[in-house]
Amino acid sequence: MSQRMNGIAASDGVAIARAYLLVEPDLSFERDKVADVDAEINKFRNAIDTSKVELTKIRNNAEANIGPDKAAIFDAHLLILDDPEIIKPVEEKISNEQVNAPTALTDVTSQFVTIFESMDNEYMKERAADVRDVSKRVLAHILGVTLPNPSMIDENVVIIGNDLTPSDTAQLNKDFVQGFVTNIGGRTSHSAIMSRSLEIASVVGTKSITEEVQQGDMIIVDGLTGEVIINPTEDEVIAYQNKRERFFKDKEELKKLRDEETTTVDGVNVELAANIGTPKDLDGVMDNGAEGIGLYRTEFLYMGRDEMPSEDEQFEAYKSVLQEMDGKRVVVRTLDIGGDKELPYLNLPEEMNPFLGYRAIRLCLNEPEIFRPQLRALLRASTYGKLSIMFPMVATVQEFRDAKALLNEEKEKLIKEGVEVAEDIELGIMVEIPATAALADVFAKEVDFFSIGTNDLIQYTMAADRMSERVSYLYQPYNPSILRLVKQVIDASHQEGKWTGMCGEMAGDATAIPVLLGLGLDEFSMSATSVLKARRQIKGLSQNEMRELANRAIDCVSADEVEDLVQSYTK
Ligand code: PEP
Ligand code: MG
Repeated sequence: MSQRMNGIAASDGVAIARAYLLVEPDLSFERDKVADVDAEINKFRNAIDTSKVELTKIRNNAEANIGPDKAAIFDAHLLILDDPEIIKPVEEKISNEQVNAPTALTDVTSQFVTIFESMDNEYMKERAADVRDVSKRVLAHILGVTLPNPSMIDENVVIIGNDLTPSDTAQLNKDFVQGFVTNIGGRTSHSAIMSRSLEIASVVGTKSITEEVQQGDMIIVDGLTGEVIINPTEDEVIAYQNKRERFFKDKEELKKLRDEETTTVDGVNVELAANIGTPKDLDGVMDNGAEGIGLYRTEFLYMGRDEMPSEDEQFEAYKSVLQEMDGKRVVVRTLDIGGDKELPYLNLPEEMNPFLGYRAIRLCLNEPEIFRPQLRALLRASTYGKLSIMFPMVATVQEFRDAKALLNEEKEKLIKEGVEVAEDIELGIMVEIPATAALADVFAKEVDFFSIGTNDLIQYTMAADRMSERVSYLYQPYNPSILRLVKQVIDASHQEGKWTGMCGEMAGDATAIPVLLGLGLDEFSMSATSVLKARRQIKGLSQNEMRELANRAIDCVSADEVEDLVQSYTK
């Protein structure tokens, strides 16, 4: 008998493969005394040897899949396994105190971790994390427990986990990972967003998938409906293989629209742009015929590594995107760290409400040594294409002015240094805080454009965490309150002759698109994989009719009523 579970459909597609459990293993042990000290030391040495073999493989795989800079972290781990200052005290502790190997190992390594962490030195703090990681690996081998290693996957799998961090997701090898299913998260959590850019089927927020699935179980993931089937019957496998084929056929059909403009039946042109996280996502942008980049989430450049990217490294990344887009608009968002996107090497204190805390522009304005190099890199890259810069999480006009002032300071410095900088860089803000939407008319006088970040705007307006599957019923893109805010922002920008885009996931949502078109949205920016579907839909709509729909939608009582209304206009 198969078992069915439901979650939130997060990335289109159907996957059928064996489960690969990405869960923290149980590494608990008893602090026992031992009689045979030599045997215990041998156990420890064998675990060190096995860890070395394993880490060398992981390192080589990481180098091939994600590049040498990301593989370097494992070199640091291998060095620790050879460090006599760590190895010797463990062996001495076993022989002098006759404790078992797990006790000696964890006592010694946690001493090092405590000392390194207490130092006021970035480098040593990172070493603390390395020692902790290596100690966990050796301990697992002593206990005979297998640690999950996603970068080692070399056969088709569906990943099962509580949640995937954005850096877990970045390490997945698309050739083998067919899909993933998680306990927590929503459609706009960043692992979900990344699965869409990787074109991997995913279902999130199932609450308890990790409790139901065993390593190696057969899994079907239906990223179109949010359904997951554990150990399917033969008939179910055949039905979903057919569904997968239909999905791929439709994708092929859509490709015919790749080079077309996005024009409504009554002749109105809108811009369909794509969201990217790294220059690697550009292949998907080209394949799916996006007309520009509406959101480049630069924080992914900073993630999955041990230290900040240098100004030059950033310059190269921005330059390559601008060059490849060949004169089409590229909206680069400055560093938006915080919420579910962490940078461990910044060692920021934990906060009660990270989504409401020290993040994004707040952090950048307070730590110009982080912000200035990014601004310089952007300015230096600006002559290679059509660059727009936008600041995330702006809550006050003063924040925008401060950010703009820093940008202008760097611009003047560069010009003095003889570096060429484009004159026509547009400067905008994300509208993702209700206060900013409420004050859109004031902002519109100072910015060149708005991009509405509905992923956050919805969570802040509805006071419903975008990561929480428990309150996902309140995470309502079609709630009239959201539509009214969107209308207010678009109208305010048009009043000042400026444009408004939307780069939250709502921009690619088939139910929202007719309303957004009617509200007069100028640019829709979405996961590249949604672009062609959106184009097909918009080409079948009349803006005039959608204007009438939008006017009625903002007067609706509930999100459900809006959905029904959209259906009645578009069926
Ligand atoms: C948003 O909040 O809508 C957005 C596009 O930014 P992010 O998803 O990166 O928070
Ligand atoms: Mg946001």
